[in-house]
Amino acid sequence: MSAIDWQAVRADFPILGREVHGKPLVYLDSANTAQKPKVVIDAVDDFYRNHNANVSRAVHQLGSEATEAYEGARKALAAFVNVHPNDLVLTSGTTQAINLVAYAFALPRLQAGDVILVTRMEHHANFVPWQLIAERCGVRIAPVEITPAGEIDLPALKAQLKAPVKLLALTHVSNVLGTVNPVAEICALARKAGITTVIDGSQAVPHMPIDIPSLGCDFYAFTGHKLCGPTGTGALWAKREHWQSMPPFFGGGEMIREVRFEKTTFNDPPHKFEAGTPNIAGFVGLGAAVSYLDGIGMAAIAEREQQLLAYASERLQSVPGLRLIGTAAHKAAVLSFLIEGAHSHDLATLLDLQGIAVRSGHHCAHPLMAFYGVPATCRASLAFYSTEAEVDALIDGIAHVRRMLG
Ligand code: PLP
Repeated sequence: MSAIDWQAVRADFPILGREVHGKPLVYLDSANTAQKPKVVIDAVDDFYRNHNANVSRAVHQLGSEATEAYEGARKALAAFVNVHPNDLVLTSGTTQAINLVAYAFALPRLQAGDVILVTRMEHHANFVPWQLIAERCGVRIAPVEITPAGEIDLPALKAQLKAPVKLLALTHVSNVLGTVNPVAEICALARKAGITTVIDGSQAVPHMPIDIPSLGCDFYAFTGHKLCGPTGTGALWAKREHWQSMPPFFGGGEMIREVRFEKTTFNDPPHKFEAGTPNIAGFVGLGAAVSYLDGIGMAAIAEREQQLLAYASERLQSVPGLRLIGTAAHKAAVLSFLIEGAHSHDLATLLDLQGIAVRSGHHCAHPLMAFYGVPATCRASLAFYSTEAEVDALIDGIAHVRRMLG
């Protein structure tokens, strides 16, 4: 194990020192949104105090400082996932990124009779956009099945990867099960069959080193707020040939070269796909977030989170009446569970009274809930700033709730 002082790292997050209902906060909802270190909060504060201006529009000093900061964040983010900054379009998050692929790439290309494969474990953000465009162009959506442990059924998927399938929507890491999917292997198979791959990296980029080119996908989307950055930030990477062949999706300022009543010509990617004023301060914060994470090292973060996952899995499995949903061999630190005799919402509410924040509900994954035959689960999700003591607090908290519910 690396010699990182994880308690000192935890102290970088001001919010983790607060109390909730008179108890120390135990934040186990990092898959929902990650907490922000002081450097991120300071970067946003500094931008508004000292550099605030719009990007790319002003020749004045503040305008060039803001543009430099925004483009600097793009460069930092691109380096973080090992891609060229010009191939990285900045978006408001994964949701906008996947809608951009659906409307600007897929809709103009798909034809009636084509099929889009979507796995059973997708977040609605990598599901509903496909349904919306499928209705418009007469395309069928077909599910990629999973095993009871929550892994992609690879033999079944291999058999599906052929005409008339045109596109595969696949999450890198499941937000409910924690499953880490073999994305490179699946993308290689899809590529051979001429199928476009759209990878949702929302739950992967915050938890492991990501080298997008080595995955061999066509599109890779991720969101900034799960990466210790501000909300309303995210990115979409695509192969350059796709950016060059895609028409713009949103029209407006910044994405044009020349506008005439007869015809408008467009800016080069990535700006062609970034109409209007972006979340400049948010991206400045996200740039600071990835520098912070790089400073710790994503390999060390992954190792620490695996250690916490092993500890939490073992402790949760010893809780009487607990059913763990998602037992894949290769997992991120996400633990979804049900407790016999306790509704997930009641459990989460009673845990909150003890200062313990877990998420309960369908986690934007209705088709996955249907697969397991449950309406909701409780989900504890850990980050590198989580501690074994917080896992212990969860276990004690569950025991307390069980006593209360008799
Ligand atoms: N995909 C996954 C796997 C997620 O967990 C989430 C957020 O919970 C999203 C997509 C949507 O991200 P955003 O709301 O930031 O667009």
